Amino acid sequence: MRVPLIAGNWKMNSTVSEARELVSKMLRELDEIDGVDKVICPPFISLAAVYGLIKGSSIKLGAQNLYFTERGAYTGEISPLMVADLCEFVIIGHSERRQYFNETDEIVNKKVPAALKVGLKPILCIGERLEENEAGLTEKVVTSQLRSALAGIAYINGIIIAYEPVWAIGTGKAATSKQANQTISLIRRNISQLYDKEIAQNLRILYGGSVTADNATEFMQQSEIDGALVGGASLKADQFLSIVKQTSEVVK
Ligand code: PEP
Repeated sequence: MRVPLIAGNWKMNSTVSEARELVSKMLRELDEIDGVDKVICPPFISLAAVYGLIKGSSIKLGAQNLYFTERGAYTGEISPLMVADLCEFVIIGHSERRQYFNETDEIVNKKVPAALKVGLKPILCIGERLEENEAGLTEKVVTSQLRSALAGIAYINGIIIAYEPVWAIGTGKAATSKQANQTISLIRRNISQLYDKEIAQNLRILYGGSVTADNATEFMQQSEIDGALVGGASLKADQFLSIVKQTSEVVK
């Protein structure tokens, strides 16, 4: 039985005081929702403040990125050890990092084991761009990104995969739940081939891309979808709470 997971990716939004305010608005209610792993991923600069607020609650903390080296002369970067000090999760390979910061499959393939080594649970993001989708290349692109990201990694305990079609991120144009379910099923088949059936069955695979309080239940009702990576809607306390509550209802 896979426990669903809802992760809020705040992206580059919120100052430290805004982060405190947003967490305070949803803390009590979010804490009480059971049957779902609830993860919030604020910007690096707010992690410590948010950590202080959610400590002792059932809410978990995630970072949005990391660098793959443990320490050294890499001005401006944040190491896996530093992230692991405060966080349980870390988003890796988000399409915005691939698109705007030249994050390649090779870099993603260095970040995943670096995160696993220090006990972090990576939320590995993969997904096709619009032109790839329209050219019928979704399966090819997703398979290639997945296999590149995991190349040479023998143990993937704790990893979570987020299928995020790039054209659905921040556009208000979500994939259909059926499309998402199909692609996630393909991802699970690949994991079964790369590792084994049991690992594939236990692996949580999320859908991400314009998930809101209006469509959350539909996604969560799909057999292969184990939760969501939520961007825009995670910045509104009532929306995020509603998505988590709907997920909890579906698993009951
Ligand atoms: C995301 O940032 O991963 C995301 C899915 O964003 P949104 O929910 O806004 O589409």
